[in-house]
Amino acid sequence: MRFEPTDAMQLPRFAGVRTFMRLPHVTDLEILKNERADFAVVGLPFDTGATFRVGGRFGPEAIRSASALLRPYNPELDVKIFDYVHGVDFGDSPVAPGFIEDSYARMQAHLEPLHRAGIVPIGLGGDHSVVLAELRAAAAVHGKLALAHFDSHTDTWDAYWNHKYTHGTPFRRAVEENLLDPTRSTMVGMRGGLYDAADLNDARALGFRVVPMTELRKRGIESVLQEIRARVGDAKCFLSFDIDFIDPAYAPGTGTPEVGGPTSAEGLALVRGLVGLRWVAFDLVEVYPQYDPAGITAELAANIVYEMISLLAYNKKHAA
Ligand code: MN
Ligand code: MN
Repeated sequence: MRFEPTDAMQLPRFAGVRTFMRLPHVTDLEILKNERADFAVVGLPFDTGATFRVGGRFGPEAIRSASALLRPYNPELDVKIFDYVHGVDFGDSPVAPGFIEDSYARMQAHLEPLHRAGIVPIGLGGDHSVVLAELRAAAAVHGKLALAHFDSHTDTWDAYWNHKYTHGTPFRRAVEENLLDPTRSTMVGMRGGLYDAADLNDARALGFRVVPMTELRKRGIESVLQEIRARVGDAKCFLSFDIDFIDPAYAPGTGTPEVGGPTSAEGLALVRGLVGLRWVAFDLVEVYPQYDPAGITAELAANIVYEMISLLAYNKKHAA
């Protein structure tokens, strides 16, 4: 059995119960193991880590609805996705709204068995605090990871209101917990006013390569892609995409929007360009549907996740 989207010529894309890309909703890990699934889309509907707006708990639902429009052939990568990989919508992780450390434990427990089974989880946030649980789950199985991080913020602050776990702090915690290898990791897209010059320099002091928006604009996409790929090398890698990386003109439905960012097309090109890396997990976070009246943020998010799945398919196609 192969886990593929429902055939749109049998049942039109507007019909059916919503799952990501109309994939089968399967939550039995034994079935996924037996069928050798390659990936599992997992909702992480948690937004207690947010420091400004809230509402990411409804992100997975909105992204799933928007994803109904996706089609299985990716012409840019010339890959018919489900000829090479297959996967499911694994549903949502349990969380305890209002209780971040408890929720971290629940999300990690939900994700770690997927890693143990060799299945690549693709997390749908949720605010960006969820990435710490995802990284704990991934590193418990794969060891220290390289990171490709697209965001308008580094998310390496130390604390907010003396609290260590928020959506502004996960990557500092991840370094402290030895989940990441910053020397293999790159953060792209930083912009906007900060509290202090230390905000960016702290990320660099942790060892991350930080490519601010102005540098991305100046050097261009291909040059930055080359640098990300070179830093990752043959390390196992996690891709974390905060939708606020994209300019709020294209992605208004988010928690801490920063103007002056990349277009949708540039965001898609950046993910698409990360072919050939050893992906162990992906996520797409910070979609807040309440601020997304036309649904364009969720539509973009669904398409970025589509490019992530396409990377897995491309790698399989070109592995031989
Ligand atoms: Mn973020
Ligand atoms: Mn951000």
